[in-house]
Amino acid sequence: ARPIVAIVGRPNVGKSTIFNRVIGDRLAIVEDMPGVTRDRLYGVGEWLDREFSVIDTGGIEIDGDNEMLKSIRVQAELAIEEADVIIFMVDAKAGVTPSDNEVAEILFRAKKPVVLAVNKVDNIKRQDDIYEFYSLGFGTPYGISGSHGTGIGDLLDEVIHHF
Ligand code: GDP
Ligand code: MG
Repeated sequence: ARPIVAIVGRPNVGKSTIFNRVIGDRLAIVEDMPGVTRDRLYGVGEWLDREFSVIDTGGIEIDGDNEMLKSIRVQAELAIEEADVIIFMVDAKAGVTPSDNEVAEILFRAKKPVVLAVNKVDNIKRQDDIYEFYSLGFGTPYGISGSHGTGIGDLLDEVIHHF
């Protein structure tokens, strides 16, 4: 079976954008995979000859702060169970938010490797914005841009290193 990579983070950080960039058009047919839930999207990614399954955990969209936090928590916990490597995604434009800290607390308990991706680093000036994310406690933040497709290679280098 392919290793499983889950993209986890609060809404609007760019999970689905990166998911689509990584899988291209290789969206997996959910019926082929046992034990999956309908609120998650599965695809197939490939980097340096390594194939892996990718989960976009952002499927649940509920209004209201409490419901949103609940769904972030549920998605993060599902990802921890299912994934071999977790991409924890945050937003360089927004900085560290309370919801990011919520996700971080859950991921801390995971005995799974976590790679921190700081999305929306759209230009070289924004590269300085990634340093505050060291405070989340997951080591090196990888600056990426879903809009421009930059930084994703370095991020995937680190991800497949954990397979
Ligand atoms: P998700 O809720 O985490 O799945 O986030 P989405 O992928 O739906 O993206 C949320 C918003 O951020 C959308 O309006 C995207 O177009 C935008 N977005 C995604 N990646 C980037 C990026 O690298 N730079 C900027 N400026 N916007 C982005
Ligand atoms: Mg999404």
